This record gives sequence, structure tokens and C-alpha cells, in this order.
Amino acid sequence: MLTPVVAVESAPPAEIEALRERYAAFMAEHVYPAERALAREDDDAERLIADLRARAKAEGLWAPHLPPEAGGSGRGFLAYAFLNEVIGRSTWAQLVFNCQAPDAGNGEILHLFGTREQKERWLRPLVEGEVRSFFSMTEPDVPGSDPTTLRTTAVREGDEWVIDGHKWFSSAAEGAGFGIVMAVTDPAAAPHRRASQIIVPADAPGLELVRAVPTLGHRGRGWSTHCELRYRGVRVPLENTLGEPGDGFRIAQKRLGPGRIHHVMRWLGQMQRAFELLCGYALEREAFGSRLADKQTVQNWIADSAAEIQACRLLTLDAARKIDAGDEARVEISLLKFYAARVLNEVIDRAVQVHGARGLTDETPLAGMLLQARGARIYDGPDEVHRMVVSRRILQEFEAGGAWTFS
Ligand SMILES: Cc1cc2nc3c(=O)[nH]c(=O)nc-3n(C[C@H](O)[C@H](O)[C@H](O)COP(=O)(O)OP(=O)(O)OC[C@H]3O[C@@H](n4cnc5c(N)ncnc54)[C@H](O)[C@@H]3O)c2cc1C
Repeated sequence: MLTPVVAVESAPPAEIEALRERYAAFMAEHVYPAERALAREDDDAERLIADLRARAKAEGLWAPHLPPEAGGSGRGFLAYAFLNEVIGRSTWAQLVFNCQAPDAGNGEILHLFGTREQKERWLRPLVEGEVRSFFSMTEPDVPGSDPTTLRTTAVREGDEWVIDGHKWFSSAAEGAGFGIVMAVTDPAAAPHRRASQIIVPADAPGLELVRAVPTLGHRGRGWSTHCELRYRGVRVPLENTLGEPGDGFRIAQKRLGPGRIHHVMRWLGQMQRAFELLCGYALEREAFGSRLADKQTVQNWIADSAAEIQACRLLTLDAARKIDAGDEARVEISLLKFYAARVLNEVIDRAVQVHGARGLTDETPLAGMLLQARGARIYDGPDEVHRMVVSRRILQEFEAGGAWTFS
């Protein structure tokens, strides 16, 4: 059977391109020149971030992940996907435009599932940039890839939940105002109806921030931390439940699908920046009597990177359009999640290699990019889990006597 040919529109519509140019201009003028100072993560960096955020807000480049009725400047899912390709070029830019993980995802689920009171109390200050938040699902003692094994519980007592458990990798919890915790509320229910998402104020008695867990030698500060938390008899009112009790996985799925598109669009920004640095330096640096750009190994890296980035971009835009049309596009999302995470790491690694020792210094953004990129193969589902999802789905078709149709 012939596969129907569907053109993937790879250029954004004109009005979105104009918006991308505004973001790109803001980044060129304000974000890239500040990157080194921001990476120091000291008090000066905090002041600089506050100043950049105020500028971005004043220029209407604020919270592009949410629609105006939720307090953002968003223009829909696809527009935001295309914007992330620009924003993703700097790891600091999401914070500048107030669309940083995990606040962006938390904001989206509060907007979609929150009650009027929850939106007023938690979403409004989040979108305004008055508070930050965290998302608390992963636990040190069970596999995060299989969250049906979660052990943190929320037990109903009167009109309150009492939460007990041990979490880690609750990113950005240091200095946050509240978190959304995934806890088992009905252990007897079917595995995907056992857990709920519950809003917890960061200052709730019994919630202890044990430590910011250093990752790859980096402790981070505030937004860039990955925190270990203990919940010991933490009491919150039942009205802090997001959606209905048992909706935890349904809400998580709603967050993760589109969220992965946005992650990968940001990674595309990182890949393209690394690619530009790779090509630029290869043309400039000479060794053994010729430019690095004239060595076949480097030419191969350039050609492979170009092909892989292009493939990632088309895969991502294809999945984005399917989601925009109402399809969950689960296979497409899993495909691009593991493929793009690998390409991201490989392209940055090649760019570092071309730069030699300079690639490991802070004279280029590559070392910071390399450090950030490794996590992409683990968070939002490790590579192996997404490959399992894809291959199982494909094999189902063959087991049923069919074949796999490529879109
Ligand atoms: C930078 C970063 C930020 C994060 N931020 C957050 C956050 O804000 N909130 C939060 O709750 N969590 C967060 N996480 C945690 C993340 O969601 C988990 O790390 C992820 O779900 C994997 O869980 P795990 O680490 O427990 O690994 P495990 O589930 O224990 O898996 C370990 C390894 O086993 C292998 N594996 C697992 N399943 C299979 C399989 N079926 N087949 C073959 N191999 C398999 C994979 O190689 C995997 O890497 C973050 C993680 C990182 C790296």
C-alpha cells in the first residue's frame, strides 16, 4: 500500500514569524549578553533576571504558553511550539519570558483543570511572576518511569488530605511558593486511577526541603535546583485537589504530550545554536595546514548534524500538527522524544569537540548546553521507555497481520 503524502509545513505562518523575530531581537539585545553573568547564579544574577523579566513583561513577551484569559500572551499551541525554537536557544530565556519548566506545565494544568478559586489563588500569581512552583512526582525509592509504583500517599481525614512521602527531583522547589504533588489517594483503584494531583503550599507544616541534590557537579540555585523533599503529615484542604480524586494520571498525560513538543522545540533551538557554533569555529580554526572545515571528519559531523536536526524538526512539527488537530499522537511523540534527545546530545558534543579545550570552558555557551542536555534523555520518560512504547505499538500492527504505515 502506498503511504499518503502529507506535506509538513515547516515554516511558521507570517504573524508567528513576526512574533519570533521580536523574541529573537529581545534575546540578541538582552539575553545572550547576560548569559555568563546569569550562569554565576549569585545575587547579581538574581537582580539581572528580575530586570530582564520586567523588560520582557513590559514588551508584551510574557507567559507565551498561556492565553490572555489566563494572564498570558499566548496565541495557541502551534504558535507557542514555533516560539520555543527561538526561546530554547538560551537555557535562561524561558525564565526571562516566564514560561520556564515546571511553572509552564503547572500553569497549563491549573488553567485546564483548576477551579475558579484555584486559578485565583495559585495560577494568577504564577502567571504574574510573583511566585514560582514545583512538580513533585518522582521518588528515590521507586522507578519514575513507572509511576504506578508511587508510594507517596494522601489520606482523607475530614475535609483535608494528609500527605506522607519522600520525593526527589522536584525541580525548582527551592524558593517556590507552592507545588503540585502526585500522591496515591485510592490504593484499591485500577493502577491509573490510584493517584491524584494536589496543590501544596511550600510553607505547609510537615513539608521539608531536605536538600538541593547536586547533579553533574552542579547544585543550582532557586529555579535551577533539583530538590529532595519529605512530606510528613502535610495537611491541605480537599479543595486543593486538581480535577477529581483519581485524575492524577489523566492530568499528567494532558501535561506531558504537548509539553514534550515544547521541550523538543526548545532543544531544536539548542541544536541549531550548537550547529552554528560548530560551523563558525570550523571555518575559523586551522590545524595541520588547513581549516577544520576542510577535514572530512568535521564535514561529516556537519552533514550528519544538518540531516538529524532537519529530521527532528520535521518529526516535531508533524506531531505538533497532529496534536493541534486533536490527535494524542502518542507514537509520534515517543519517536521524537527519544530521537531528539539523542540528536541534541550528539550535536552539542560534536560542537564541543570541534572547539577542543575551549569547548569545555565558559568562553562559549557549549559547556552549559552540554550539561543541560544530558538530562533530556531521562526526564519526561527515559529513551528506553519511549522506544518500548514505539516498538510495542508497531509490533501490534504486525501481530494483527498488518504493517506499519509511515505518515
Ligand atoms: C533534569 C531533570 C529534571 C527533572 N525534574 C523533575 C520534576 O520537576 N519533577 C519530577 O517529579 N521529576 C523530575 N525528574 C525526574 C524524572 O521524571 C525521572 O528521572 C524519570 O521519570 C525517570 O525515573 P527514574 O530516574 O526513577 O529512573 P528509573 O525509572 O528508575 O529508570 C532508570 C533507567 O532504567 C531504564 N529503564 C526504565 N524502564 C525501562 C524499560 N521499560 N526498558 C528498558 N530500560 C528501562 C532506563 O535506562 C532508565 O534511565 C527530573 C529528572 C531530570 C533528569
